[in-house]
Amino acid sequence: MTAKQNSETRFAGLPISPGVVLAKVCLFKQSRHNALPSYEVSGKGVDREKARLRKAREIVIERLDNLKSTVTERIGPAEAEIFVAQKMMLQDPVLCGEMDTAIDEGCNAERAITQTLDGYESQLAQLDDEYIKERASDLGELKRRLLDVLCNTSPSFQCSADSNCRRGNDRVVVTEELTPSVAMEIEDNGLLGFVTERGGKSSHAAILARALGIPAVSGIADIHNQIPCGTQVLLNGNTGELVVRPSAETKSAAAEYISTPKALEVVEPVEQYTVMANISIAAEVKLAIEMRAEGIGLYRTEFEFFAAGSALDEDQQYELYLSAARAMEGRPVYFRMLDIGADKPLGELNLPKEDNPALGYRGARLLLGRPDLMRPQARALARVSRELPVHVMYPMITGLRQFRMLKGAFEEMTADMDSGRIYHGVMFEVPSACMEAQGLLEEVDFASIGSNDLIQYFFAVDRNNSIVSDDHHPDYEVFWRLLENLSLAANLAGTPLSLCGELAADVQYTDRLTACGIRAVSVSARRISDVRRAAAQAKPRRHVRSTN
Ligand code: PEP
Ligand code: MG
Repeated sequence: MTAKQNSETRFAGLPISPGVVLAKVCLFKQSRHNALPSYEVSGKGVDREKARLRKAREIVIERLDNLKSTVTERIGPAEAEIFVAQKMMLQDPVLCGEMDTAIDEGCNAERAITQTLDGYESQLAQLDDEYIKERASDLGELKRRLLDVLCNTSPSFQCSADSNCRRGNDRVVVTEELTPSVAMEIEDNGLLGFVTERGGKSSHAAILARALGIPAVSGIADIHNQIPCGTQVLLNGNTGELVVRPSAETKSAAAEYISTPKALEVVEPVEQYTVMANISIAAEVKLAIEMRAEGIGLYRTEFEFFAAGSALDEDQQYELYLSAARAMEGRPVYFRMLDIGADKPLGELNLPKEDNPALGYRGARLLLGRPDLMRPQARALARVSRELPVHVMYPMITGLRQFRMLKGAFEEMTADMDSGRIYHGVMFEVPSACMEAQGLLEEVDFASIGSNDLIQYFFAVDRNNSIVSDDHHPDYEVFWRLLENLSLAANLAGTPLSLCGELAADVQYTDRLTACGIRAVSVSARRISDVRRAAAQAKPRRHVRSTN
């Protein structure tokens, strides 16, 4: 179905954050270079365009060399071959000659690149040979790399800048996928909702929308190509329906459901159930404090990098972490060490392309493999610890051995510094770590259950994929047995254990969490009051094993 001009069109998607909103669309498109500068050149212009093209080629070659070294070192020489092949293409005299000829004939550099490479790419793509087809996609990749340099864009999302665009005003943002870096690019002032093509209920898009308290729907194929910027939509995050250009009747029927922003009500802490806040950037501490959070139970520090659009150095990290720790005035802040990779890529790191990134170079593995990334963070946190105690939490831990390696690396990286009290903790997100829970909990200072990833890896169900989203939920007895085992192990070891995945914010499970002995959770600040209300009503129960 397509959204026909002027007529109401309905799309069914996956509801990932509740609420109903009526607003105009702001479209974010991945930079596809589909609005490239195109102009005629002659005389000196020809030399200038050739020089631009030559410079772009040099930069891309340098980037390919860097990629080749990184991938050779991290994965292996065979996997790095793709970059060698791309470099050879870029140095190919015939190809280069054709691009120069196109400029001689009056094309600007951008047009010379697309004209030449598109021609080859479509010829190769038609041949019935897998190897040759791959070369065609290498050409497409090369084109993107050259245009990225020429147009000075990194592969990020850009508003298509249509004259009707609602950027900056009240708007629903429509995009293919709301990755963490895109999310951090979007100004949340006036942001009323999200529509995405990809992303399950536990995706970062969903987490962000719920944290902002705005409706979101995902899983609507190709939607970003079907709605022009500025089109009015009725977005229903309760049912997953998106109505494009709603009729007067549709709007009046929906009027009573449309969500109006409500002031947040503060609920004071309740007994026996500690409710902390999840934050992505230090600035969010303010709301956490307003909502009387009893700590920051998850500071997703990688989002500071996404917000900045690049890796932060030690000083920059120190300032942010110190401001968060100071603002919390002695309440704990669990600084999760950078959890980059898979659904949270950071372009600048030139991470290798992997067939299965969720099981690849990410989280704890990436920290161990990239001391250049871990060292500044460890040192920034050690500096904060001189003033306030610091909780360091390692993501995606697979077991005791990996925890020891990370803690050892942290201590080695900060050995020459004066440090204060540093607690080392882990996240339970990988089943193997849960199998080793007793040993781990006896050794760590604290731990937190990351139920978003734990469900993903326990049941082999992608948290980010709207197609399998119905299977990504905690309603399996075996999952609750796992939580109960973790909680029992923590009790036995006398180690604080909390839960910071989205499950903690869903009040239908609060009773069950308390029943299996979980006494501390961390949720987005907007959810704190609801969770406290639910906890206050939860039946007091002893810590008993379920029988099913
Ligand atoms: C989790 O996996 O449950 C978690 C809290 O971490 P994130 O959502 O950032 O992966
Ligand atoms: Mg996680």
